[in-house]
Amino acid sequence: LRGDDIGKSNVTEPHNRHITIIGAGLAGAVLATLLVQRGWRVDVYEKRGDPRVQGYGGGRSINLALAERGRHALRLAGADESVMRHAVMMRGRMVHFLDGRTDLQRYGRDDSEVIWSVHRGELNVVLLDIAERAGVRLHFDRGLRDVDFDARIATFTDPRDGSAHQVAFESLVGADGAGSSLRAAMTKRTDLGERTELLGHSYKELEIPPAADGSFPIEPNALHIWPRGRYMCIALPNDERTFTVTLFLPNEGNPSFATIRNGADARALFERDFADALPLIPDLERDFEQNPTGLLATLYLDRWHFDDRAVLVGDAAHAMVPFHGQGMNCAFEDCVALAEHLDAQPDLASAYAAFQAERLPNARAIQAMALENYLEMRDRVDDDDYLLQRALERK
Ligand code: FAD
Repeated sequence: LRGDDIGKSNVTEPHNRHITIIGAGLAGAVLATLLVQRGWRVDVYEKRGDPRVQGYGGGRSINLALAERGRHALRLAGADESVMRHAVMMRGRMVHFLDGRTDLQRYGRDDSEVIWSVHRGELNVVLLDIAERAGVRLHFDRGLRDVDFDARIATFTDPRDGSAHQVAFESLVGADGAGSSLRAAMTKRTDLGERTELLGHSYKELEIPPAADGSFPIEPNALHIWPRGRYMCIALPNDERTFTVTLFLPNEGNPSFATIRNGADARALFERDFADALPLIPDLERDFEQNPTGLLATLYLDRWHFDDRAVLVGDAAHAMVPFHGQGMNCAFEDCVALAEHLDAQPDLASAYAAFQAERLPNARAIQAMALENYLEMRDRVDDDDYLLQRALERK
């Protein structure tokens, strides 16, 4: 054990505006920036290496839909302009029917009501650059392993050599995602009321490369959906003129990830159900076999903080299924709310309690909407009555 990091933070009472954030993902980078801008000293510990040095190794969902809720936080962090340079506008859903017809269902009346597709890796890199420029201290290759809440010492492991590093903290913020190690450490000391509900459906990512002339091979300014009842495909554009396709299937039944087990099975499924997408995905078999199958679940907690010692934000507090495209947007909203409560409240415990009181009901509502939207996306967007209703709404 190396104790050389102990003592770097100067813990005094009342709190001295120093925060230690676990996770330099999306929420961690934005929260750190917002706090430094408000005069806090912020250290962020990330288990992976620096993606700006060794490339992004996120390993899941390659692009994300960014909505106005998320952009509001990015504007406050001074990151919106840089992020939007990499974003592709999505005006609505492009529904692909089984017979090959398509229909663009706009999200709003005009281009003031749209969402944006951003690459997770590019977004993370931009946010880290902005955080570092603002004065955040970033520590990579530091995975949180354990927390001594009484001594206020966190132990991190360096994945490169397995060495342990101890760090004194005043208070910890868990921005370490759905599998949060901080949440696990808090649970050893206090009951957070944690429960996870698996959806029973999983996903696989595939790639549509650019057309032969380097252009987008299908309409770039749309979120493409192939709804097929119990399952579906979606595709979001990337600024390098590719699309990331996500195939959502049940875990059981037919078809499901139990029956579609290899590249050849996937090709047969696409020939039958996603025929217009098939020629766009030249490496379907390889993508299907090499890319991991992602699980989908909703995480519910009744409490997000452990007095003044730790609080959870983003997926660590409320991971949700991705069908409303709001997990990151909601995580960014958390960052703004937490920064504001930390400034407004006299002590950390009150700030964390006020943050939880404001955000927990909102997170629950978005989690419920995300589950509902799965039914809508896979089942209803190609329903004739539904299309008529949408057409009338647009008039
Ligand atoms: P993460 O982005 O998971 O970041 C956590 C960070 O913590 C990572 O950098 C990780 O390496 C680090 N970390 C983990 N453990 C440790 C540890 N022990 N010590 C130190 N660091 C650690 N949201 C949208 O808004 N729009 C979308 O279109 C959308 N699409 C999605 C599609 C899919 C298939 C999935 C699965 C999710 C989607 N989401 C979407 C949700 C979105 O990805 C998450 O809500 C968002 O990433 C949450 O951000 P976060 O910072 O809380 O967690």
